[in-house]
Amino acid sequence: MQESSSYDFIIAGSGCAGLSLLVQILAEPSLRDKKILLIDREQKNSNDRTWCFWETKPGPFESVVKKQWDELWFRSMTLSRLFKLHPYKYKLIRGLDFYQYCESLISRASNVERRIETVTDVGEDARGPYVESEAGKVYATYVFNSLLFEKPVMGKNEYYLLQHFRGWLIETPVPAFDPKQATMMDFRTSQHHGATFVYVMPFSETEALVEYTLFSRDLLQDGEYVSGLKNYIEQRLGITDYQVKEEENGVIPMTNFAFSRGRGGLVNIGTAGGQTRGSSGYTFQFIQRHSAAIVRALRQGKSPLLPLTGREKRAAFYDSVLLDILYNETLPAHEIFTRLFARNEPVKVLRFLDKDNTIPEDFRLVSSLPTMPFLKAAIKQF
Ligand SMILES: Cc1cc2nc3c(=O)[nH]c(=O)nc-3n(C[C@H](O)[C@H](O)[C@H](O)COP(=O)(O)OP(=O)(O)OC[C@H]3O[C@@H](n4cnc5c(N)ncnc54)[C@H](O)[C@@H]3O)c2cc1C
Repeated sequence: MQESSSYDFIIAGSGCAGLSLLVQILAEPSLRDKKILLIDREQKNSNDRTWCFWETKPGPFESVVKKQWDELWFRSMTLSRLFKLHPYKYKLIRGLDFYQYCESLISRASNVERRIETVTDVGEDARGPYVESEAGKVYATYVFNSLLFEKPVMGKNEYYLLQHFRGWLIETPVPAFDPKQATMMDFRTSQHHGATFVYVMPFSETEALVEYTLFSRDLLQDGEYVSGLKNYIEQRLGITDYQVKEEENGVIPMTNFAFSRGRGGLVNIGTAGGQTRGSSGYTFQFIQRHSAAIVRALRQGKSPLLPLTGREKRAAFYDSVLLDILYNETLPAHEIFTRLFARNEPVKVLRFLDKDNTIPEDFRLVSSLPTMPFLKAAIKQF
């Protein structure tokens, strides 16, 4: 096996986390001379996912936001609530637009080298942090790793649920949507397979992305996603004449497993670094924040291996409690989310999901939920 020359940074994985970090490093003047290697087993050139998230200001990927909304619907069998998002905007980015934008920045950066290789290991030995592939080991001052080599093994009171979904981009011959209002969650669908909801992102009066989403232990049969989508489009949206232009499938782990942040010069990022929120699957904004914090540390000459903040620890505890309830089906998800959106300012719910609330705000929100099941799960998880 060959050992090749050193880099300042190696980024393993050119998905959301790898590219977000790279873009933020390239934007930092004090890091412009750093020699960077980006490794992935594939070129990212397909529209393999869509990211939805909310923020108050323009972010680093503002130029590729396809659509943003100021108003959102929450719906269940017992609640229909349209809420204004101010100060947030709910934004949507198509994966392909994101990859192409990052690619255009990378192609202009002479300090970035690209390799298409399958990585077999990442770690740290006497020479420092490394990435290993069939071509050998490569070393760097810091390795930023977004690869998950295997499914984590759960310990006591740790849960691993799947958030799985199928989305259709549909087009109708006549106006069928209000493009100013998106649907964040609509639980008015069968809950037979577990926690199930649909979200609807209208791009125009005649085009929308409709995603049928579940939180459960197992995936469904192919036809079950299709019938879930068809039923919702016909029965809830009242649309019978439409064409499916694109399809999206995905699985996101929802777990309270404590992913390692890394050690020494090996820094885990993205889902592999614990940036997926265990109780919601939201990841995009946490990746942006983590990337910004890493760049800040590097600029200040500090280690980018950042300890968990108090807010992150608190949020991890809430995630464990909620996952305990969802996994053991102590309370149905539609009831939990209906209570949250009925009894609180929806913007506070968004802040909670973003880990941005203060302790008293968290307390008010949590106390709007049924006490006994949450207390029991909290004691167990404590
Ligand atoms: C379909 C879908 C939709 C999602 N929608 C949202 C959303 O709306 N909002 C939100 O906040 N989150 C969403 N997520 C969750 C999360 O934002 C994404 O999964 C995000 O892409 C995670 O970033 P990542 O870099 O950790 O992983 P990825 O983006 O999956 O990147 C990992 C990279 O590693 C590469 N790789 C893997 N193994 C190897 C190997 N052995 N050798 C070399 N390369 C390898 C892969 O090719 C890939 O490019 C979604 C996820 C999916 C799957």
